[in-house]
Amino acid sequence: MKDVMPILFIGHGSPMNVVQENEFTSSLKNIAAHIPRPQAIVVISAHWLTEGTFVTGTVNPEQIYDFYGFPMELYQVSYRPPGSTRTTDRIIDLGKSIPVIKDYSWGIDHGAWAILKHLYAEANIPVIQISIDFTKDAETHYEIGKILSALRDEKILIIGSGNIVHNLSRMSHEQFDENPYPWAVEFDGYVEESLKNADAESLIHDDRFLYKAASLSVPTNDHYLPLLYIEAIRRNEDKLHFFHKGFQHKSISMRSFTLS
Ligand code: ZN
Repeated sequence: MKDVMPILFIGHGSPMNVVQENEFTSSLKNIAAHIPRPQAIVVISAHWLTEGTFVTGTVNPEQIYDFYGFPMELYQVSYRPPGSTRTTDRIIDLGKSIPVIKDYSWGIDHGAWAILKHLYAEANIPVIQISIDFTKDAETHYEIGKILSALRDEKILIIGSGNIVHNLSRMSHEQFDENPYPWAVEFDGYVEESLKNADAESLIHDDRFLYKAASLSVPTNDHYLPLLYIEAIRRNEDKLHFFHKGFQHKSISMRSFTLS
């Protein structure tokens, strides 16, 4: 049992978190100290959307500053871990039926490095990203996620990086506003219950997106989908631990958890 790596879902929120010390960022530092040191890290980031499923294949992945209008200090944050062609090839092998295609154009986007900077500041563990095929439905993402399960037995840490509630058009300029929207709290709680019940069907099922709280919380599903990858590689014996809860900007849930 102890040789099986935990899996993480992290609500990454605003890129500003990368240069801040707050409850969220200290929860990341704390959780990294409590999980076995991985040999490689695979991130499914909300910020790499493609037609087809790709995996990064470069030895020295480029750090991508994929955000605009933020303070200069964010563009000066350096996070340059190596890639791992061995892990890339392993994922391609596991994903033959999808297929998963090797990519040399992407690198590490802020969905990955802005959280990894707090988790593993030294940037000396190889990082690989897997893209999200925006042409596929939720059920298919869940099925793609399953192919990654074997990596947990190979000392590889898998992280889904998105946000359960993510509505930028309704966000408050106040990052630490104490009063999230009622619909955001409602939907976040709904997902919390589904996770506690290991109810993958309710996490995948599209019907609930007809309800107001869900449609406001997930206006586009790019930040939600990484959650389905993590749920897909959940095992019966895994214990769920929410290591951070709360909201930023009133409309972004920072809820983050481990399954181990
Ligand atoms: Zn994001």
